This record gives sequence, C-alpha cells and structure tokens, in this order.
Amino acid sequence: MRNNRTIIISNRLPVRIERRDHELHFIPSEGGLATGLGSIYQQEGNIWVGWPGFVPENEEEETLVREKLADLNLIPVFLTEEELQGYYEGFSNEVLWPIFHYRLSYAVYNTENWLTYKSVNQKFASVVQQQHIDEKDEVWIHDYQLMLLPELIRQSNDTIAIGYFQHIPFPPDEVFRSIPWRDELIKGLLGADLIAFHTYNDTQHFLNACTHILGLPIHNNCLHVGGRSVFAEVYPMGIDFEKFSGLARSTAIRERATQIRDFYKNRKFILCIDRLDYSKGIIERLEAYESLLKEYPELREQVILYMLVVPSRDTVPQYKALRDEIDRQVGHINAVYGINEWIPIAYFYNSYPVEELSALYVAADVCLVTSIRDGMNLVCKEYVASKEESDGVLVLSELAGASKELLEAIQVNPNSVDQIREALKQAIEMPAEEQQRRMRDSIDIVRKFNVRHWVKIFFNRLREIKLLQRQEM
Ligand code: UDP
Repeated sequence: MRNNRTIIISNRLPVRIERRDHELHFIPSEGGLATGLGSIYQQEGNIWVGWPGFVPENEEEETLVREKLADLNLIPVFLTEEELQGYYEGFSNEVLWPIFHYRLSYAVYNTENWLTYKSVNQKFASVVQQQHIDEKDEVWIHDYQLMLLPELIRQSNDTIAIGYFQHIPFPPDEVFRSIPWRDELIKGLLGADLIAFHTYNDTQHFLNACTHILGLPIHNNCLHVGGRSVFAEVYPMGIDFEKFSGLARSTAIRERATQIRDFYKNRKFILCIDRLDYSKGIIERLEAYESLLKEYPELREQVILYMLVVPSRDTVPQYKALRDEIDRQVGHINAVYGINEWIPIAYFYNSYPVEELSALYVAADVCLVTSIRDGMNLVCKEYVASKEESDGVLVLSELAGASKELLEAIQVNPNSVDQIREALKQAIEMPAEEQQRRMRDSIDIVRKFNVRHWVKIFFNRLREIKLLQRQEM
C-alpha cells in the first residue's frame, strides 16, 4: 500500500527553464510560495503540477523536459501559445485580475477566452487524473487561474481532500457579479473543502457571492454543497522570515547597504518596490512625493525616492500606458525639482536578485507601499524581516492585505495624495525610539506568521475538515 500523497497545483511550476547554448537549463524558483511548499512537494511521492513557463519546440524536447522535471517531483501541463493567450492573458489577466482588483472598466469580456479558460482548467484536471490520485491524497490548488479546477477534480473523487487558496483579493459580490460567467466560477471553487483568502473581507465577499448570486445558505463560514460541508476561511500568507532576516545580518549585504547609502549621500532613503501594475498606486505615490517636495521645500536635497519597478506585461496597452506615464512623471519631477547633483527620484525598470533587494531593505529609512488594491503585498513583510538591526519605518496602504496584520505601520489611504505626503513627513521625522518600538511589533508578527506556519495551519485545517465531514456522513 502506498502512502498518502500531497499534490500542489498552480498556474506556474516553481522552476524557470532557459534555452542557452542549445541546452536547457532548469532554474528553481526562489519565490515565497516555492519556499513555503518546498518541504512538501520535494518529499518522495508528492508532486507539484503546473505550466513550466516554456513551450517545447518538438515532441522530443517535450519528453526531455517532462523527464527532467519528474526528477524534481514536478509534473508539467504543456500549453500552446493559443491556450496561453486565451486562458492566461485573455481571461485570467483581462477579466479576473481587473475585476478582483475592483477595476471594472479594465475588464475585457470575450467568450472565446472564457472557453479557453475552461478547457485549460480541464487540461489541468486531466493531468492530475493521470497521476492516479487516490481518495486519501490531498490536493492544494493555488489562485485565480484555476478557479474551475476544484470542481473538475471533485467530479471523479468524491471524498478526496481539496484546498484552494486565492492569492489576490475577492471583490464585493456586486463587483464580482459583473462577470458573465460568475456562477460557474463560484461552482468551480465549491469543489474544494477549504477555500481560503488573505483577509476576513475577501472571505466575507466570497461568502456573500455564494448566497447573493447562487442563493446558497451559509452558516457562519460554512456552506453545504452536495452533502459536503465546505469552509471559507482566512489564512494570511507569510514570508520566509529567516531568509530575509539572515540575509540582512550578513556582512556582504550590510556592506552593500552601506555602499548604497553612501552613493546617495546618506539622504533619507525612501524605497518602493513593485511589479508594473495599475493596482500598485505608482502614479498616486509619485504625485504624493511631488507634493512633499512642493509643500516642504526644506526637504529637497534631504531625501531620495528609490523606485524599482519590475517589468510586467508592458506590451499590453494599459500597462504600456502606465509605464509611459511613470516615465513622464519621473522625468517631470527630476527636471523640475532636481538641483546641483541631487536628483529626487532614482528610478529603475528592472528585476533584481534577492541579495540586492535585501541590501535595499537594509539601506531604506522608509519603505512606501501605496497599493490601490493588493491581496497581501509581500514586499512590506520582506522589509520588516530585514529590519532587526537597522531602523526604518513602513508606510503602508490600508487597501493591501498586509495592513490587517501590520498595525504598527503608518497606514494611509492610497487615493489620498495628502495622506501619503503627511505619512512620508511623519516617517522621515520619526524618532529612532518610536521606529524601533513599532518595528519590533511588526517583526514579531512577520516572524511568527511566516510561510511555513501558513502551510502548516492550512493543511491542519484541511485535515480537520475532512474528519468533520466523515463524522457527518
Ligand atoms: N521581487 C523580486 N525581484 C525584484 C523585485 C521584487 O523577486 O526585482 C519579489 C519580491 O521580493 C516579492 C515579490 O517579488 O517577493 C512581489 O510580491 P508582492 O506580493 O509584493 O507583489 P506581487 O507582484 O505578487 O503583486
């Protein structure tokens, strides 16, 4: 008899495949999810199913990739360019992403894309079935690209444990209702036994959608679906605390942080790190920074805004327009306010290795997060984890999931230029003692509710729910 297995499923596998010098190179991902789930999927028998981020040139190459990935316990779902276009770019990123981030006007409804989304979810289900899953196995599905998958797996596995975690927000039911295919999306999720979100509000919005759109009765956070009790609950995701605190303590990183500070003449160093996305409030933040320089001219030459924007989807018109607008505003602020050798904004459109991010976190006096909507926001937690031995202040949008945990941050409404400006002023002037007191509380939270803890409590709860369901039968 074989042991129970755990099957992780997400859109992307935790690996990057690169073609270099006529050879394929497999580079493991260092992201938070990969770290948190590493100890699980790397155990013998367990697997992670997902798209490998790579379209093979021919069958021979596909077989080679499949074999190489199998050695790493990874099972690929190969997708064609057309499938990626419809399922990922078209439906996930042009319907679900904007609607779930409350941007109704950005959604593009296209039936073809919806049909591709459905067929790709079906393809994932077939790959999972080929793994000969057993009723005693556990499945954990991640994120909005795979909302139909829980039900598709459930259809052929009555009692198997299925968990689903949504990494982005879930909007109020009336916003969610805008999606023509909303009923099928909810029914898809209800194939899971545990449906989890980062915040209480996201969970409540999902439960409201179940009652108001599908007319399902709920008891507290429990729904009854086909004789099964299904639970919607809150599991805020954490980070790999030890990794970031360890890096921040290392001599090499501290030296690099000093180099960065020296380069910017020890000015008050305000750090922003985000992917290029309209949900991150980058334009609002630039307006607030300009307002700071205008209203408090004495701060000119005393501060530097270091802004790292990670390239993302910049061939899509909305993203390209955002990038152009950032270029324009940064150019404007630097041209109008720059004086002598002082340039107010150091702007980089790039992606950095974790060591450089860590040095930036250590160097920064202020970390500024202004998301207009954000499921969690891990950057602010990484900043906190890097601040055991250096001072710093976190200015955090109240519309990012992390604001529900990091109560000692200076919280702002990201739509208010005035609030961001005043929060920056307060952060820049905050006495060291207050910085340390606030940061200590945040560090305790980020350390305790780290990514491993998140994985552990999620699985514990999934098992508890299965026991409860069995007792009910
Ligand atoms: N990040 C990175 N390289 C960079 C900038 C950021 O790997 O150059 C990472 C960062 O460390 C963080 C993640 O990207 O873990 C961003 O996560 P977050 O939740 O803040 O935003 P998301 O992009 O998922 O919306």
